[in-house]
Amino acid sequence: MKLGVDNAESLLAYYPVHYDLYTKPEPISGILEGRKCAILAYQAGNIAMHDTGRLKIISVDVQDATGRIRVCWYNAPYIRQVIKRGKPYVLRGVAKRKQGFLVLEHPEIFQPEDYEKKVDILSPVYGLTKGLSNNMVQKAVRAAFAALPGITEYLPDPILKAYGLMDLARAAWSIHFPPDYESFMQARSRLAFDEFFLFILAIRHLRQRLGDAESAFAMHKFWETEDFIEKLPYALTRGQMNIWREIEADLSSGRRMARLIQGDVGSGKTVLAFLAMYMAALNGYQSVLMAPTEVLARQHYEKLQGLLAEQGITGAAPVLLTGSLKAGERKMALRLIEEGSGNLIIGTHALIQKAVRYKNLALVITDEQHRFGVYQRQVLGEREDPPHMMVMSATPIPRTLGVVFYGDLDVSVLSELPAKRLPIKNCVVDSSFRPNAMRFIRKELDAGHQVYIICPMIEPQEGIDAENVTEYVKKMRKAFPDANVACLHGRMKPDEKTKVMEEFSAGQVRALVSTTVVEVGVDVPNATVMMIENAERFGLAALHQLRGRVGRGESQSYCIFMAGQQGEDIRKRLDILNHSNDGFEIAEKDFELRGPGDLLGFRQSGDASFRIADITRDRDLLEKAGNLAGWILKDSSRLYEEEFMPLRRKLEDYLKENEGSLTI
Ligand code: ADP
Ligand code: MG
Repeated sequence: MKLGVDNAESLLAYYPVHYDLYTKPEPISGILEGRKCAILAYQAGNIAMHDTGRLKIISVDVQDATGRIRVCWYNAPYIRQVIKRGKPYVLRGVAKRKQGFLVLEHPEIFQPEDYEKKVDILSPVYGLTKGLSNNMVQKAVRAAFAALPGITEYLPDPILKAYGLMDLARAAWSIHFPPDYESFMQARSRLAFDEFFLFILAIRHLRQRLGDAESAFAMHKFWETEDFIEKLPYALTRGQMNIWREIEADLSSGRRMARLIQGDVGSGKTVLAFLAMYMAALNGYQSVLMAPTEVLARQHYEKLQGLLAEQGITGAAPVLLTGSLKAGERKMALRLIEEGSGNLIIGTHALIQKAVRYKNLALVITDEQHRFGVYQRQVLGEREDPPHMMVMSATPIPRTLGVVFYGDLDVSVLSELPAKRLPIKNCVVDSSFRPNAMRFIRKELDAGHQVYIICPMIEPQEGIDAENVTEYVKKMRKAFPDANVACLHGRMKPDEKTKVMEEFSAGQVRALVSTTVVEVGVDVPNATVMMIENAERFGLAALHQLRGRVGRGESQSYCIFMAGQQGEDIRKRLDILNHSNDGFEIAEKDFELRGPGDLLGFRQSGDASFRIADITRDRDLLEKAGNLAGWILKDSSRLYEEEFMPLRRKLEDYLKENEGSLTI
């Protein structure tokens, strides 16, 4: 299977992306645009056929006691044989506005008595790839449950009771096939709790093991770092300066640094990493900066190289190590690292493979940490002489939650954006605005600026009405032949991606049509327009990150959220972004607006650490999990008590699973 699912157990954890809830039929007069609904109705006119060449459309009016609505189906000629006059049907689909009228598009058809049986049952919808139907996945999951020896509980009964948790075996089954809404909610809570609990337990456990010991890499302060700051093309903000002082103090304290630097997108975290790395180099040590994507790693590398060259610094040598290096380049990089002559090491996961031998690694920095499992970070940390650790994150975790997660990790918050930044101007529009948007893009291109356009899809896909990169880039090339429009998406080869990103950074490519692969960290200050197609398809956190790609230079920047579907809900949600530039506030408001009803949908994007749990909406679970982990670890012998043996085993499995084969 193409789903990244290769055994029965991972199939069980292949959670539905959302659930279809068959609701009671509602009156036609109450139908809202853009929402899924079911109606119980009779045929009220003749069936009409219409052939556009590409599509065969069948349409018919139906009615109930409250009103009438047009229904249409695409390429489904058999419908004519299905619908009979004088008989009631349940039709279930989404109402869209066409030429001013609501039309129920391509609804499912049921006999009323069949539909009745489905009402209020949640049926799982899985994320699919080509050639696999939802039914096939459902069957496979059922088969997996039958074939496996059964998932067993690992928490003692009294704890389940005290924390109000559903039994794990039941939760595992119910998340796929919830008998009712209540069971679904309990199953969801249990699995979310487990994600938090094991995560927190593992981090704190590892930290206890590593200890808060003295560092083998005590450093001295050097005036060269002051010089570096002075010669930067900009002045550091007060916030950056304060945090730099904290880092400098940590590194020279004689104890091991463990610091989380939190700052919203664009707040200027990268330069702090460079400074810390430079300080390590001045002390004769190696340091590592680990980025979640190749594009980002390369960008950091080039930026650092540029700064060092500008300042004429020669004693510090950056090395790039990513998965897409050619064999020769890779060999060279590995040698530089092993010899120690490469001392500023930047890369991706490739940095934690066995083949990489560090000479004297004293500092490990992970950028955009939420994209990594913490274990990759820990792997570098679990050396005989554990290096200093610094984590940079734009994830809006309030300080109190940071404490739950990271225990005694020190947290620095970068709360201001660099000066001279104009706030980004936002607008939320629908697709009728597109011609205006294109004129606007023309103007910005003419002013020498660059443009991002984001589409949710790579290619057109049947049944999904959303913009895709492949077709969009053609349109853009036609519309802006002088802009050297390029495209970027996750299915391109790494070196193709790198090339496009480099050309965009260098200003040769002036308009980039991309999927959300640019979401994290990419920095091209000359880009002033971010236009997001089908903005309704993205989570607000992702949209906020995307918006953070512009507004990085001194020119006014703009973000256009283009909604492909209309609807009051969609507008309200997107309006949150319109009114706030604060990542955490956005997450909170989003949660309030979505309300608990939205729990039926899982991940909207990104955030790899948790699959079900959501830091914002599951805050109380997070706190509970933190409490339990704290209580268990408080007494170091507790994990060895008889009743916690299953938990111990679970924790060991969890650590192993998450470390994978990654050891140094
Ligand atoms: P993030 O915190 O999102 O990682 P970056 O470190 O990528 O942000 O910084 C965003 C942009 O702001 C970069 O182009 C960087 O060079 C620039 N920058 C960083 N600090 C300052 C500053 N004090 N003044 C002006 N520009 C800055
Ligand atoms: Mg960054």
